Amino acid sequence: MIIIMKASSTEPQIDAVEVHLRSLGLQPHTSRGTQRTVIGAIGDKREIDLERVEALDGVERVVRVMKPYKFVSRESHERDSVIDVKGIPIGGKTIQIIGGPCSVETPEQMEAAAAGVAAAGCRLMRGGAFKPRTSPYAFQGKGVEGLKMFREAAGRHGLPIVTELMDVRMLDTFLEQKVDVIQIGTRNMQNFDLLKEVGRSTHTPVILKRGLSATISEWLMAAEYIAAGGNHNIIFCERGVRTYEDAYRNMLDVTAVPMLKRETHLPVLIDPSHAGGKAWMVPALSRAAIAAGADGLLVEMHPNPPEAWSDADQALNPQELTSLMVELRGIAQVLGRNI
Ligand code: PEP
Ligand code: MN
Repeated sequence: MIIIMKASSTEPQIDAVEVHLRSLGLQPHTSRGTQRTVIGAIGDKREIDLERVEALDGVERVVRVMKPYKFVSRESHERDSVIDVKGIPIGGKTIQIIGGPCSVETPEQMEAAAAGVAAAGCRLMRGGAFKPRTSPYAFQGKGVEGLKMFREAAGRHGLPIVTELMDVRMLDTFLEQKVDVIQIGTRNMQNFDLLKEVGRSTHTPVILKRGLSATISEWLMAAEYIAAGGNHNIIFCERGVRTYEDAYRNMLDVTAVPMLKRETHLPVLIDPSHAGGKAWMVPALSRAAIAAGADGLLVEMHPNPPEAWSDADQALNPQELTSLMVELRGIAQVLGRNI
């Protein structure tokens, strides 16, 4: 059961609802979002009179949610949620293509990348300053210096930034640097302490990538960790899953898009770059993603792909990103959406 409090509800009213739920033998989990406070009630609700809970002061609505993921489930919120990133909507009618390099490298590379992303018509930019690499000897990212480089280059082109947080100890720095969207990568999808912290310490939007071999329900439960802390600004990103196939990097699970759209009210993106792992595959996978109903893409683009310090094989060049945008606009239009 989910208790949605009125926007005008007060702390004493929230406390009173929690006390009432405990008196019914239920465990309240209060999630304070920017727009609304939602209280999840865990326990045996068979005998509970919903109307009596609904009659409590400050309560807007009570919804019975059968799924184990409460706050992120579509049962708790029928309409699609639109996440606002500095006035740019993620979810809803507009599809967002988030372009940028795998890694932040140098100020010159970031300036050229930001110019290319903006020229292609993308409204947000990606780039990793902290890189989760398979080998400890591979380039690990420019760290805080990279975050600053990214901020400056993207700022000059009016692009909000999306960047990966790997370590909970860096969260304060991310917030100081005003990172606009925190990316939680594949390898950290079930880093529960990290999820709890981005849930309770900030309302900054979070892109939660799917774990390498995570099921849909594990993924939804990972998002629930963030939402339970009070951060409801969550965006899912499918980036390919590991299978027996080794002809390409990962297998893009397009099936996840309609499945997630049914199970959750939150937006769903696709990362065609880490799925196929080859630049030549990116346009085909991107077309499939948009046709399947994704709310956007996270695409790697480098000003000079052969020179990229990481994931050189899968990066589009600026011209290829521009052509892809044109092509995707046509598909979006057929679906009654825009890019
Ligand atoms: C990335 O987007 O830079 C990245 C490392 O992706 P993933 O976590 O999907 O591997
Ligand atoms: Mn990459």
